Amino acid sequence: MKVLGIESTAHTLGIGIVDEDEIHANVKSMFEPEEGGIHPRKAAEHHYQKAMHLLNQVEQKSGIDLEEIDAVAFAQGPGIPQCLDVGAVMARALSKRYDTKLVGVNHCLAHISIGTRTTGAEDPTTLYLSGGNSQILELRSGRYRVIGETLDIALGNALDKLARKMGYPHPGGPEIEKLAEKTDDIIELTYPIKGMDFSFSGLVTECERKVNSEEDEVIANSFQEHAYSAVVEALERAMAQEESDEALLTGGVAMNSRLRDMIETMCEQRGAEAYVPPPEYCMDNGAMIAHQGLLELQAGRETVIEESGKKPKWRPDEAEVTWK
Ligand code: AMP
Ligand code: MG
Repeated sequence: MKVLGIESTAHTLGIGIVDEDEIHANVKSMFEPEEGGIHPRKAAEHHYQKAMHLLNQVEQKSGIDLEEIDAVAFAQGPGIPQCLDVGAVMARALSKRYDTKLVGVNHCLAHISIGTRTTGAEDPTTLYLSGGNSQILELRSGRYRVIGETLDIALGNALDKLARKMGYPHPGGPEIEKLAEKTDDIIELTYPIKGMDFSFSGLVTECERKVNSEEDEVIANSFQEHAYSAVVEALERAMAQEESDEALLTGGVAMNSRLRDMIETMCEQRGAEAYVPPPEYCMDNGAMIAHQGLLELQAGRETVIEESGKKPKWRPDEAEVTWK
């Protein structure tokens, strides 16, 4: 079954085509704000403007004509409402035009599924860290349970805010990483863990107050060490509790090499395996939505047009897991 998937939950419009054997294409365009964070209307405008271009590109790269598509999947939530609308409208239009099946999938679960498809992990404890979400997830009796999560802002968002305050462009994660690599000096900050949960907004404020009085490199390094240690500690506890011997790291923040090192060290010490998908599948992308759609369609799930509206606050633990 050839499935076209559309991702549009936040800054990225992505379109991918997959089937059971292959990921045929995965194209994307990312909205880059000129200043500040992601403005919902401007991001949605970007997605509308890029839609036709990306559809042509995905046809070209895959060598698959849209006429040959069997199903259209889209990220129904969670995400920015204005952005979600773009994907939902495109998906409905395409499925009508080409007379295909339609399926709306949960963005967070798609990150996990593409993670297992591209790494070979089977039943991992997942640490999902992105611009909008930060969660630890584990499959337990038919649902992905959120066993730890941020109590306020997502870790990617925190990195973006801190970098912006220091005067660096969006996205901030890679900028903070480059700065942090220049020093080993650390200042002591609040350790942002609360049981199995974590919280980053206090940590960002604390760091923002030090901008100009401390060196950027030192602030960046200190932020990374505190924030990444906290999420890895929570992940380790989750793995112990679940008796899990596989960790999957995903979401845009998974690109960070210091974080990867910490997780690899932790897993090594536990005799567990650490998995990280290739970068193009860590960041938001259309192939992951197509793959999630494929799994759900194979399990018999479809979305009728009347129920294909956006779900901006759709938590991953609200979705029934029918495909495992
Ligand atoms: P996503 O929402 O999953 O596409 O991820 C986007 C987030 O990933 C943004 O907040 C980025 O700052 C963050 N990010 C990207 N690359 C890195 C990196 N090398 N280190 C830390 N965060 C990163
Ligand atoms: Mg994401």
